[in-house]
This record gives sequence, C-alpha cells and structure tokens, in this order.
Amino acid sequence: MIRINEVKLPLDHSEVALHDFVINKLSINKDQLVDIHIFKRGYDARKKNDIYLIYTLDVTLKDVDEEQLLTTFANDHHVKASPDTSYKYVAQAPENITERPIVIGMGPCGLFTGLILAQMGFKPIILERGKSVHERAKDTFRFWRTRELNTESNVQFGEGGAGTFSDGKLYSQVKDPRFLGLKVKQEFVAAGAPAEIIYVSKPHIGTYKLVTMVEKMRRKIIELGGEIRFETRVEEINIEDNQVSGVTLSTGEVIPSKHVALAIGHSARDTFKMLHDKGVHLEAQSFSVGFRIEHKQETIDAARFGKNAGHPLLGAADYKLVHHCKNGRSVYSFCMCPGGVVVAATSELESVVTNGMSQYSRSERNANSAIVVGISPQDFANDPMQGIALQRKLERNAYVLGGSTYDAPAQCVGDFLAGKTVSQMGDVEPSYKPNVKFTDLSSSLPDYAIEAIREALPAFNKKIKGFSNADSMLTGVETRTSSPVQIKRGKDFQSINTKGLYPGGEGAGYAGGILSAGIDGIKVAEAIALDMLNA
Ligand code: FAD
Repeated sequence: MIRINEVKLPLDHSEVALHDFVINKLSINKDQLVDIHIFKRGYDARKKNDIYLIYTLDVTLKDVDEEQLLTTFANDHHVKASPDTSYKYVAQAPENITERPIVIGMGPCGLFTGLILAQMGFKPIILERGKSVHERAKDTFRFWRTRELNTESNVQFGEGGAGTFSDGKLYSQVKDPRFLGLKVKQEFVAAGAPAEIIYVSKPHIGTYKLVTMVEKMRRKIIELGGEIRFETRVEEINIEDNQVSGVTLSTGEVIPSKHVALAIGHSARDTFKMLHDKGVHLEAQSFSVGFRIEHKQETIDAARFGKNAGHPLLGAADYKLVHHCKNGRSVYSFCMCPGGVVVAATSELESVVTNGMSQYSRSERNANSAIVVGISPQDFANDPMQGIALQRKLERNAYVLGGSTYDAPAQCVGDFLAGKTVSQMGDVEPSYKPNVKFTDLSSSLPDYAIEAIREALPAFNKKIKGFSNADSMLTGVETRTSSPVQIKRGKDFQSINTKGLYPGGEGAGYAGGILSAGIDGIKVAEAIALDMLNA
C-alpha cells in the first residue's frame, strides 16, 4: 500500500475528488486504483470562511510496481510506503504459569494493562476501589442532584476511571511510533465506539457511549481469564527488600504477587501518602489551577468557523489557547468540551472541583473549558505532599466560597475583570450541578494565578471574538488537571527503588488524558509480561 500525506481538499469537495487527486498525484490510470482508505482526516480552519479538509490516505493499487513508484517519489515526503500499523503482542503466557499480576485501578491505564495482559494469557487480577460503572453512574448523578457525595464512587473513582464522565476526547501529543494509540482506539471500536474515532484527527466518544464500552471491555477481560474486583481498595503495597510481594486490601486480605501495576490516577491522595510513607520514590510535578469558562457554543462556532458553522464534518467548534503573562506564568485552555456541561468532580468531602463532560452529539447550549495557570514544584517547596495539600486547600476554600453546600463559586467574566461581584448571570447560563453561587472569585486562587487569568482573558478575546464578553461565565475551581506527583520508573517500567511495582498512567505522571493513559497501560502490560517470562 502507498501512503499519501497532507492531501488538502475544500470542505465541500465532491465524492470523486479524492479519487481524482490520487490518480493525478501518482500519475496512474483509474483502473489501477483499487481502494482508498482514509487513515486520518483533519481540517485547517485558520481561515474560517475558507476551511480545508486534510487527509492522510492509504491507497491500494493493482498492476503497479510500488517499489518503482516510490523511487519516482523519493524526494516527495508526501508519498511513502504505508507503515504496518498492526499491534503485535510481545509475549504469550505459558499454560503452567502460576503467578497472577495485579493491576490497581481500572481507569484507561489499568483497563489497558489488564486487557493486554489478559490477551497475552496472564490472567490479571484488577482491583478497583470504586463501583462498577453502572452503579458508579448512579452515585455520581445522585451527587449532582442531591449533594450526597460517595467518596469511593464518583467522577474520579470507579470502573472506567476519571474520564468516564467526560467528553471522551481521544487525542494526544505523545510520540507513538508503534501505533499503540490505534490499538487503543480499535479496542474502543470493538466495544462499541463510533468507527470514525479511528481516522478523524480529533475524535471524541462522549460520556454515555463510554459507560457501555467500559462494560463490554470488562466482559472481554473476564472471558480471557482475568478477575475484576470492585469496591476493593488497596490499602498497602507490601514490600520486602525493595521488592513488591503483594498488596493488602482495606478488608485486610493479602494478595501475593511480584508484579503490581499502579494505575491509580491523580486523585488517590490516600494511596500517594501510603506510597510516600513506604518510601517509594515520588517526586513533585507541575500542575495547573484555574476556572472553567463557559460561552454559548454558537459564540465559539461563529468565531472559529464563520459561515461554515454547523457543517456536519466540523461539528461543534473547539479551541486551544495559550497566553504567556508578564508575571512569568502561562495561562492556557485545557480539556475543552464543545456542547457540554461543567461537572462537579470532587472525590473528597467538603471540596469543590470543576471539570467538563459532553455527549457524543455535543449538542448542549454551552461550550466549556478549563482556563488554568501553570504551577511548578518551586511553588510548593518541591514536595509532592505539599502539591496535594495546595490542591486540597483550594478545593476546600471553593466549597466555602460556594456556600458550603457543594455549589460552586461562580462569577461573570465582566465582574471578574472589574473586580466586583454582581449576584446574577447574563446571557450565559452556568451548567454546573447542583448549582452555583455568585461570588468574588479573586480569593479562590493564589494572587499570581488571578493576575495571570485577568491578563489572559482579554488576550484570548483577540483570538476568539467574544471570549472575554462580560456575560461569559467562570466557575471554580479547576485543580485536578494533572497529578502533582510523579512516581519515578526506570526503562524497565519498574519504580526506581521498588522492584515489581509498575507505576503508570496519569497518577504516576506518565500520561495526560484517556488515549495516552491507555497507551501507557499497554506499555506497562508489555513490561510486566516480559519480566514474568524472564523470571
Ligand atoms: P484514572 O482514570 O484516574 O483511573 C484511576 C483508577 O484507580 C480510578 O478508577 C480509581 O478509583 C482507582 N484507584 C485509585 N486508588 C486506588 C486504590 N488504592 N485501590 C484501588 N483502586 C484505586 N481526558 C481525555 O483524554 N479526554 C477527555 O475528554 C477528558 N475529559 C475528562 C473529564 C473529566 C470530568 C475528568 C475527571 C477527566 C477527563 N479527562 C479527559 C482526563 C482523563 O480522564 C484522565 O487523563 C485518565 O482517566 C487517566 O487515566 P488513568 O487510568 O491514569 O487514571
């Protein structure tokens, strides 16, 4: 197969335009072109009224000497041989293997560690502190409705992990020469995700689809001999002579294993503390804090797509913004959810944390995204436990500012920029549930963060017209953008001072998002499998 990159065609190109392009580009006749497979489709909307689709194509030819053809295009980096993108298992467990690897956490990282281990025949035991996804969804929606928080079953904890009630965006900036991201997406499609996630450049799944997909993937792991235990919190990692010997559960039960994947996400603060107390090597890591901002989706669509707003191939518009401030801080948009809602994402009592989610249709009236300011380890004495303490302090402060009822503190952008509080909303209705309380947000974050966001919002307005409109809505606080902790691992994926412990995913500092956590989960599974075979 031949791959052609960066094929640029107008948004409303005809059906035959791709065929015509390929035939012309390769100077072949139409009978020699057997099939065109779209490997990737993105768009270039830098000029909103003149939007182009950008394709990467894999074409199957007949009666063509492909080697000869590639020689002709040796100096054209747009034409290459199509790479082999299929996933190859690195190991297969022997029938008589007795040890079972343990996976802690069933977010995307733990899910893929468990799935790949099971597919290689290693029969993992997956331990998840939260409930199965169906029960967890009930607890989460109950909290949003009634303010009753279950600290073990919520947006952060439970089957599917932190991204289950999300927009389900599936793209990442990580280098992926082995196409592991494709393996993640193929497994998602096999579990019911829309097939387009394989080729569109910014795929998303939406929250309801994710819930049913996670259930199907669980069944697959069990069919392959894996075991999954919900409402099972790992209380302690057992370590003897710097080697893991197993885990102790909150029930007191001990499960032995010399191979333990740690895929606990960024919110398992009690587990981080346990690891710290046990002497597992942790380091402080940068994270960000800020607010969720909401606009009417139509404001974003008009600013990004102009007359093309509403085009079915474009969907609801997103954005990505960054501003470098005079005080040396950077402010950026994060986890943008077109046509979605702001959600209450705390896992701790008397705390308020915001995040965003949407359905596959992205048809809610508002667009939301986090507007956050980078915080580096120097801001919290380079101490991972201090980073967690800072997050917690801001979350508890937000709870009080919101009226100590799990309502979130909120303020219109106009009032925030002017430094005053008006107890009413304008044109943009906040979507956060259970509710918001209008207040002055200036005390909700460190002064340098407030100063930076006040500088950035008008700057963002120059890129997206209407961004800092007085009616745009800010809801606080966004604190769980990434883990304040890195659990250092070596090239063998094991903790640098605890053999047999395999830190992975977002909580350990090796992923930021669903796709990269899934990719990291595959790598962790491979490292465990290879070590188990060498043992
Ligand atoms: P997690 O998903 O956090 O999973 C960790 C799991 O470990 C949890 O289920 C937890 O219950 C369990 N656990 C923790 N401690 C223990 C213990 N001691 N014993 C047993 N189990 C334990 N990313 C995107 O790419 N796209 C998006 O659209 C997106 N939207 C998001 C929306 C929301 C509301 C949130 C909260 C996050 C969103 N993210 C999104 C981020 C994404 O969810 C995370 O990056 C991803 O889930 C990290 O995966 P993980 O497996 O490393 O950790």
